[in-house]
Amino acid sequence: MAKRKQCQKVTTRKPSARPQGGGRFATVTRYLSVIRPDHPLADKDGRVRTHRLVLFEKIGDAATVCHWCSRKVHWFGAGHSELVTDHLDENKWNNDPQNLVPACRGCNIARKQRAKTRCLRGHLLQGENLYVRPDNGTRQCRTCKQTTFKRFAQRRKKREAAKTV
Ligand SMILES: [Zn+2]
Ligand SMILES: [Zn+2]
Repeated sequence: MAKRKQCQKVTTRKPSARPQGGGRFATVTRYLSVIRPDHPLADKDGRVRTHRLVLFEKIGDAATVCHWCSRKVHWFGAGHSELVTDHLDENKWNNDPQNLVPACRGCNIARKQRAKTRCLRGHLLQGENLYVRPDNGTRQCRTCKQTTFKRFAQRRKKREAAKTV
C-alpha cells in the first residue's frame, strides 16, 4: 500500500478568497468541505464536510447501523450512537460514495488506532514496545510510558526534598 501523506498542510482561505464557481474548500479540520448553509449537517459556518455530505446523499437521514459492529447510529445521535463517516481505505481525501460507510464513534476511533504504527514521538508501536490497554484496547508506547513515569518520580523526589528543608 502506498504510504499515506501525513500532516498535510492545508491553508484556510478567507471567504473573500474563494475560488469562483463554487467547489471544494480545505478547512482547518483537514477535511474537504463545501458551503451548504441550508444542509441539515451544516456547521455554524455553513459548511458541510464533503465526506459527510456524500454519505448523507447515499444513505439519507434515517437511523442506520454501524458498518463494523451493527450498533444503531444516527446523524444526530449523542455519544456513541452518533453516526460518523468512515473511509474504507482510510484515505480521508477519497470521498467516493463506495469508500464511505456509517460507523459509530467507538469503531471509528478503534480503526484510527489500528492504523497508527508509531507513537507521537516516533517510536515504533510494535512487539516489545507496544502496550495494549486491556480495558479499552488503546495502543500505547512503552518507551514513552516509562519516560513519563520517570519524570513523575523525579518530580515527586524534588517535592519531597523541598518539604524536608
Ligand atoms: Zn461500531
Ligand atoms: Zn513513544
